[in-house]
Amino acid sequence: MTTPAAPQVLPGHDVRAGDRPRLSFAVPRRGKPPRHLADLTAQERAGVVAELGYPEYRANQLSTHYFTHLTRDAGEMTDLPAAMRDELVPQLLPDLLTEVRRLEADGGSTVKTLWSLFDGVKVESVLMGYSDRATLCVSSQAGCGMACPFCATGQQGLTRNLSTAEIVEQVRRAAVSCRDGELSRGPRRLSNVVFMGMGEPMANYKAVIGAVRRMVEPNPHGLGMSARNITVSTVGLVPAIAKLSAEGIPVRLALSLHAPDDELRSQLVPINSRWTVGESLDAARHYFEVTGRRVSIEYALIKDMNDHAWRGDLLATELLKRGKGWVHVNPIPLNPTPGSIWTASDKSVQDEFVARLRSAGIPTTVRDTRGSDIDGACGQLAGQE
Ligand code: SAH
Repeated sequence: MTTPAAPQVLPGHDVRAGDRPRLSFAVPRRGKPPRHLADLTAQERAGVVAELGYPEYRANQLSTHYFTHLTRDAGEMTDLPAAMRDELVPQLLPDLLTEVRRLEADGGSTVKTLWSLFDGVKVESVLMGYSDRATLCVSSQAGCGMACPFCATGQQGLTRNLSTAEIVEQVRRAAVSCRDGELSRGPRRLSNVVFMGMGEPMANYKAVIGAVRRMVEPNPHGLGMSARNITVSTVGLVPAIAKLSAEGIPVRLALSLHAPDDELRSQLVPINSRWTVGESLDAARHYFEVTGRRVSIEYALIKDMNDHAWRGDLLATELLKRGKGWVHVNPIPLNPTPGSIWTASDKSVQDEFVARLRSAGIPTTVRDTRGSDIDGACGQLAGQE
């Protein structure tokens, strides 16, 4: 293995501060979305219903309609007196997502939806049907403050955090699509959720963990999904990963590494200047120790940037340094974003990169790229609007 002293950055590929949105945690001030049942715990919902002058058990009926029957249509709530539902539904089940566009790909087994939020802000989610599962890719923020130069959302900067209910609504709408047979492939039940849409979920921790809780809580207080089928993907916000480890909810953690060395990673994932490759991997390894969940390392393969065989070797070394059996690697062929000169690696280069990891004993699976003909990389659709 040879490790060049200088980072392998090609002429014209270097990323200078000022050329792109700056890394930012600051959330621009905007109005808050209207209160929604999915923002609240079961107890809080009962409290709101009581404040409005109704018996607390009515809250459970509303929750059953929302989480079990997947509806917010007052007309379907025939177990509630008409006057009561006309008052409670707008109070607790306001309309949070308006469909703006829907695009299908892969013969109808991938459906991408562009949503408009209460304030006109746009976000996307992508539903993918497989033979054994249906997976929704959700957005956790409108835009993103992490400024990764190869990511369409990273180019937009952060508009605002989504609320818990705005995230849960994406999931409920997808569950309805599955149930109603709108996917050409896959089961009639939404089984998996990945936080791989727009935004950095760990920078919107409270809303994201709230959404995870609503997804895993059994009916009627939540959607009753398995935590094991929920993936939180992060650039590596180390303190947030530590916090997630302690939640006692065994979601899958995916770490967007994209480079095994700090010099290159600081360019591809700017937050690396705050938490290094080593610190991110230590946090990921700790997550495995606490939860027993094997961590995924995401690695977008970018031609001549990070796809060198020696970087495959270095990645394997960094992972093995922290033990065996705790991690697997997901190389992702780069989905080129509009205006970018970066492209996916040649197949032979990708194969060699994968081979290096596998020969070191690291389980490695190339991520299948769904929906590339509908601007599959999340953020590209909202970016056009
Ligand atoms: N902020 C989170 C979730 C983002 S999207 C994170 O960074 O993990 C999920 C994955 O898609 C991340 O690994 C991200 O780096 C990757 N990704 C972003 N843009 C991409 C592109 N153009 N091609 C391939 N993967 C991309």
